[in-house]
Amino acid sequence: GVAVALHGVTKRFPGPKGAEAVTAVDAIDLDIADGEFFSLLGPSGCGKTTTLRMIAGFEYPTAGSIRIFGDEVGLLPPNRRPVNTVFQSYALFPHLSVAQNIAFGLEMQKVDKREVRQRVAEVIELVQLQGRESRRPKQLSGGQQQRVALARALVNHPKVLLLDEPLGALDLKLRQAMQLELKQLQERVGITFVYVTHDQEEALTMSDRIAVMDGGRLLQVGAPTEIYDRPRTRFVADFIGDTNLMPATVVDTDTVRLVDGTPVRVASGRPEGATCTLAIRPEQIGLRSPEHDRDPALDAVHGRVQRVTFLGNATSYEVVADGDADLHVRVRQGNAPGIEHFAVGDRVRVRWLPASA
Ligand code: ADP
Ligand code: MG
Repeated sequence: GVAVALHGVTKRFPGPKGAEAVTAVDAIDLDIADGEFFSLLGPSGCGKTTTLRMIAGFEYPTAGSIRIFGDEVGLLPPNRRPVNTVFQSYALFPHLSVAQNIAFGLEMQKVDKREVRQRVAEVIELVQLQGRESRRPKQLSGGQQQRVALARALVNHPKVLLLDEPLGALDLKLRQAMQLELKQLQERVGITFVYVTHDQEEALTMSDRIAVMDGGRLLQVGAPTEIYDRPRTRFVADFIGDTNLMPATVVDTDTVRLVDGTPVRVASGRPEGATCTLAIRPEQIGLRSPEHDRDPALDAVHGRVQRVTFLGNATSYEVVADGDADLHVRVRQGNAPGIEHFAVGDRVRVRWLPASA
């Protein structure tokens, strides 16, 4: 079933005195499935937090409808929605213990003492904080504090958990460990997670599906592999991972032509004669010396090596291609036997598999 459904959701904020209104979220349509780990991904200011806050009930939409498990909630306050939110700042009470922090919300709701104890124990186990129930937040590491925040958000059994850059305050190593932990936690709990991040790697690692946002709009929604391998717009290709972008013209249904005339076999799905941008991942391209690679049937661009950077497990080449276009191609290669190495100034053929373009 559908956990969260947004239809035509728009949020405009009034500008400061006399200034024009800001459209933070612009007519978004989105269905998030029950049990999904769903990420909203995009650069700072693209409207991720505003979208999440409208699902949570901290903001009301200017237009559109928000349904959670079929019920319209667009104008309900946060406590009347079956959702909970985890923020980047954990906002734990420093003078309360781990268990008291987690129990706080239930006690405010006057839930029976025995049930509070039972539910707190259950979520403490879920986030693996057994034995630390009586510690204060400042006696915990950053990762453990984040787990307390998660436990507190899960203790009243939300149907959807909303997370706004919850790992943003952690250093890289801990963040990567917590990514895995969060994903496993989501699988254990089995509820829908809606996760906001500007970090593409984080989104690719954890999500079942990702919505890429820019300027308050959804540019593409899909599984990580779909977004990575078949970005629909130049912005998405550029935002998700390293990409070579080359201007091209559509020849027919399965060929486009680069500016220097090189045909590339790729199904663009665009009409004949249309201009488009070819996006190719650096790891999907290989380099060959011209004399070792004479097969004219292969797609290839000729050029000259401008820069070589050794990266340990790969070598990154910057190649300036021939032709009118100032075509920079960066290539990564593994150190597998048989792979040729090149130096600055070498003539090369840049080639790729048709399927990778
Ligand atoms: P993100 O979380 O992707 O960084 P936000 O949703 O926080 O983006 O913001 C989207 C846009 O809306 C930005 O231009 C931001 O300045 C604006 N905005 C967000 N909240 C408010 C507010 N309360 N009042 C006015 N403008 C806001
Ligand atoms: Mg934000």
